Amino acid sequence: MPIEMPKGLPFSVDTWSPASDQKRHHFLTHAHWDHMAGLGAHFSYPVYATRLTKSLVLHYFPQLDESVFVEIEIGKTIVAKDPEGDFKVTAYDANHCPGAVMFLFEGTFGNILHTGDCRLTKDTVENLPTKYIPNKKDIENIAQLDYVFLDCTFGRCSLEFPTKKAAIQQVKNCIKMHPNAQVVYLSCDLLGQEEILIEISKEFQSSIYVDQLSVPDCFQVISHIAPEIMTNDSSARFHVIGFPKLNERAARKFSEARNNNEQEPLFIRPSTYWYASHEDAENLSLTDAERDEFGVWHICYSMHSSRHELEWALRHLKPKWVVSTTPPCLAMDLAYVKKHCFKTRLEADDPIWNLFNLSSPEKCATIACASNGNSEVGECTNASKSIVEDSKPDRKRKICSPLKKQEVTLFGRARLGLEETQLWEREEEEGENGKKKCHVLTMEKDLELEIVSVEPFIEQPSSLPVNISLKDKELQVDREKMEMALNGNKNQGDRSIYINESLKKMYRSRNVPVPRPLPSLVELMSSTKRVRLVLNPVKEE
Ligand SMILES: [Zn+2]
Repeated sequence: MPIEMPKGLPFSVDTWSPASDQKRHHFLTHAHWDHMAGLGAHFSYPVYATRLTKSLVLHYFPQLDESVFVEIEIGKTIVAKDPEGDFKVTAYDANHCPGAVMFLFEGTFGNILHTGDCRLTKDTVENLPTKYIPNKKDIENIAQLDYVFLDCTFGRCSLEFPTKKAAIQQVKNCIKMHPNAQVVYLSCDLLGQEEILIEISKEFQSSIYVDQLSVPDCFQVISHIAPEIMTNDSSARFHVIGFPKLNERAARKFSEARNNNEQEPLFIRPSTYWYASHEDAENLSLTDAERDEFGVWHICYSMHSSRHELEWALRHLKPKWVVSTTPPCLAMDLAYVKKHCFKTRLEADDPIWNLFNLSSPEKCATIACASNGNSEVGECTNASKSIVEDSKPDRKRKICSPLKKQEVTLFGRARLGLEETQLWEREEEEGENGKKKCHVLTMEKDLELEIVSVEPFIEQPSSLPVNISLKDKELQVDREKMEMALNGNKNQGDRSIYINESLKKMYRSRNVPVPRPLPSLVELMSSTKRVRLVLNPVKEE
């Protein structure tokens, strides 16, 4: 769920919009479709990516010329030439899918780690330069990360995911428990699940049937990285099967087997979303496969960090600021951020001024700090103050008015047109009788909100790459992330924010993430112990 990088930075990461076209350098972390949307129509180059990611992109977008890419491999540093100051970029393994990297940017703008999508296990974090891991003893020159743009897909999920290796062992065990299943259907067609297929092929000394027509992207990736495990013989025991309509297809195969007096086939789906969204998640086994009501076996296989892993990584990296790139988790949901990224006063040399392209704190900004109903105002020079009251009369907060015409771009603004106002709905549980109540958020509130929040926002519908044909085949969308973005984590009892069904369908039909409305101003203002950077509360034309 990529977000636009702030205006003060000369580069974009995983965004291919008119705004990111203005940047001078473009980085692609990996080849999942939600990170490539719009790339085919992008006209500003160069694009930095790993060789594998580049070759997948060129397959998806044959209109692109190879010369637009600059290859950067894991562990390699390049120096990007820029008129506002050259900067260094190093790629690190993101532990997400083949070709996926995190980028570390070091320049006059500060030290920025953009994780793309990642699974931050201990090894992954320890691959980063020791100077950014203050807990390590053998440091030569300590440095601090100014910002981490973080994949928080499962940041609200309390489950402790097994390692990928342990999950793959569970898949093998599940197959061994069903020696009589003549056909084993593996729902492993997503970029990032090839390792499961490779390990199964090795363990059972068997090729895997990958149908080019029904799972074209999987076919493409396996052809690239492990062609030896693939067969076009449909009588093979192992078949890769796409995720869409998995339950219906399983039901049909089970009934066919019963009618023919044959052994039932085995269906296995390695995924995390099924676990993260399960009503009884705490009682699910994370060490053995679980069978659902449709007869499909699940294994908790995650390409994203668990909350536990995110917190661990942040405690070790100790960044100054954290920006979540993925709903439903916001950076402020993380304990590390609540504890350490809580500033009431910004120093004149704080790197955040560069981020917003503000040369000096005297221009227009302040940190509003709300705690236990009291309010404080941080730095607020040369700006007039106004008082905003929320529904509780004893609560008052001072917010600085900005200087006129001061333009500030935050992390990807939600630029909604007026005609789209009615699309946003919020569903809330009605407590006692269990009925649901909906109300529509007004544009005014949303507009004010996008100005006071420093959390990332998702692109508006009209900025989506409608020129790209997605009808004919299923592309490499990171489904788990999309599902989390759509529905949040139902286990947490959080209020989830929804948009209406017809719009959801439109997004889903294009395999792109559904945007998410912003929290309401009232919610924001009545929250306690929250910090928001208040910048330029003037509506954009
Ligand atoms: Zn991904």
